[in-house]
Amino acid sequence: MSAEATNPEAHPEARPELRRRGRSRLDLRRLGRAALLGPTSRDRLPDAIGHVAEAHRAHHPDADMSILRRAYLLAESSHRGQMRKSGEPYITHPLAVTLILAELGAETTTLTASLLHDTVEDTDVTLDQVRAEFGDEVCFIVDGVTKVEKIDYGAAAEPETFRKMLVATGNDVRVMSIKLADRLHNMRTLGVMRPEKQARIAKVTRDVLIPLAERLGVQALKTELEDLVFAILHPEEYESTRALIAAHAGESDPLPGIADSVRTVLREAGVAAEVQVRPRHFVSVHRISRTRGELRGSDFGRILILVGENADCYAVLGELHTCFTPVVSEFKDFIATPKFNLYQSLHTAVATPEGYVAEVIVRTRQMHRVAEAGVVALGNPYATATPDATAHPDEERADPTRPGWLSRLLDWQQSAPDPDTFWTVLRAELAQDREITVFRADGGTLGLPAGASCIDAAYAQHGEAAHGCIGARVNGRLTSLSSPLSDGDTVQLLLAQDTSSGPAAEWLDHARTPAARIAISSWLDAHPDRAMATTTAARAPLSVVGARGGGANAVADLPDATVRLAGCCTPVPPDAVAGFLVRGGAVTVHRVQCAAVAQMRAVGRTSVAVHWRATADCRVTLLAESFGRPHLLADLTEAIAREGVEVVSATVEPPVEGRVRHTYTLQLPDAAGLPALMRAMRDVPGVYDVSRA
Ligand code: MN
Repeated sequence: MSAEATNPEAHPEARPELRRRGRSRLDLRRLGRAALLGPTSRDRLPDAIGHVAEAHRAHHPDADMSILRRAYLLAESSHRGQMRKSGEPYITHPLAVTLILAELGAETTTLTASLLHDTVEDTDVTLDQVRAEFGDEVCFIVDGVTKVEKIDYGAAAEPETFRKMLVATGNDVRVMSIKLADRLHNMRTLGVMRPEKQARIAKVTRDVLIPLAERLGVQALKTELEDLVFAILHPEEYESTRALIAAHAGESDPLPGIADSVRTVLREAGVAAEVQVRPRHFVSVHRISRTRGELRGSDFGRILILVGENADCYAVLGELHTCFTPVVSEFKDFIATPKFNLYQSLHTAVATPEGYVAEVIVRTRQMHRVAEAGVVALGNPYATATPDATAHPDEERADPTRPGWLSRLLDWQQSAPDPDTFWTVLRAELAQDREITVFRADGGTLGLPAGASCIDAAYAQHGEAAHGCIGARVNGRLTSLSSPLSDGDTVQLLLAQDTSSGPAAEWLDHARTPAARIAISSWLDAHPDRAMATTTAARAPLSVVGARGGGANAVADLPDATVRLAGCCTPVPPDAVAGFLVRGGAVTVHRVQCAAVAQMRAVGRTSVAVHWRATADCRVTLLAESFGRPHLLADLTEAIAREGVEVVSATVEPPVEGRVRHTYTLQLPDAAGLPALMRAMRDVPGVYDVSRA
């Protein structure tokens, strides 16, 4: 059996979805009961599938329900006698997965395949039978899910495994939608597993499925998965966040009052709108509590305003900014510039006379549906495209079964020299949170991750021919290949006629896309003499010194300040960098062209002068979180030694609930080896997280 479960009631404390998903859970419990009673009476069948049909009809009033009933009959009869770990009949699992998708607005074909998704893997039903009874499309999707399950439930996080998984799902995002809903239901019911297994599944969910949910724009699944992973991998932080939210629930909440004033303002202005207060999910509360320090009542949720038309969004914004005090730095227009995953909304924040600041999101109902359900809401990708508010004419989004980023992923997974490289760059790619579009001087567009340079554009446009790239024109002006590109730039790449030239190792410092990084690395591997000449220069030290305060700020001596390299732009030498003092006296260092720098300057934050220290080595403190087991310390120190790194000191805290935290202060011969070191430590069995202290 490919999925296991427990009784969710046994672990109510680790069930954040209870707060937001009460209705679904009730439905699922009823489904369980209906399925338990079995099809002894034909009247009960509509009861078990009825909730799915009801949710489906809410999104697709004209849908043909008879195919769903037939799929349910086949799934129920073939799974009959099989039980989940919790003792529930197995059919409750495909029903729950299908209900999740139905509530998100998936179309009938996806739901049919979802009901049948485990039959070919776990029962006597064959693919031919599915094809004969439900047609080629349903058969194709069920086959895809079966392939994914086969590989995913092995040693799932292994690079080669994930690579196979991508190939299996790459044909059709509907396979991925089912996989995500399947993982959500399995995560909801993970409680009876051994802690090691829970942590392993949670790590794969964190590293692979959550980024994919983000990429596919399925916010509703993403947030719930995030909370479930948070509860398993960070139980202490989860508990303190839960306590924060519980304490807040006992106090008076300013948001409903603010929502009321907003309603009044909009009614008086004659703008028809629905105003809701949306609680933040646990991970979101945890994130803002780390950036904002002590939270106020208005920090625990956001105000969501739903309207009919695009133009109404701006009308609402106008009223908000007139009748309340806007926090201008919080304003973002994702309607004019949608995110890569189709997300559209206006974001702003307003201050009330009482001094509360409320974050506000304004969108149309259609944008809301896309924000919550992403590709799941796109409907049947094979149906004739009908232009609507969310359709984007550019080629990146023309094929919803194969978004541009997925096509690129599939292209370069074939050219990656080895699974480890693929995995490393894949994680980097998935961590990107937005894309930019640049125009090719010869026509057409390129979709690139934010922060991409001309080098990335060269490989995206010319493939391996980009090895011969010698320069670029951006918006008509000659520029260096390392120049970062902005949304809307026009780029023209200049290639050498002479085919003997190749990339320099420094290019790797400016290449962000997997395609470019893999192509450059492969070329350098094949030309070791050419690589050596430049590698030494490219490998600069990675430590940063805080210098004395710059500008008008009175911040005095900082050489001892804790320095953090910002995760958003990952500065490396010799990037031009800017530092900002953050809570607790630490300095966060960004590349000067990082959007965060402009944002902080816009709100009046003064930067602190920082420069790269000219030392060859670097000392870091790493925290390794792990399950306690014999020889763990020996295995970890051996992994560290294998990377050529010296242990300066090590602290092992006593185990808490079978988990241990090791703190190592390490001396690296070369700071560039840090990512490989952290990877090696993460690969030690039992270790579930390694982070900089
Ligand atoms: Mn399943």
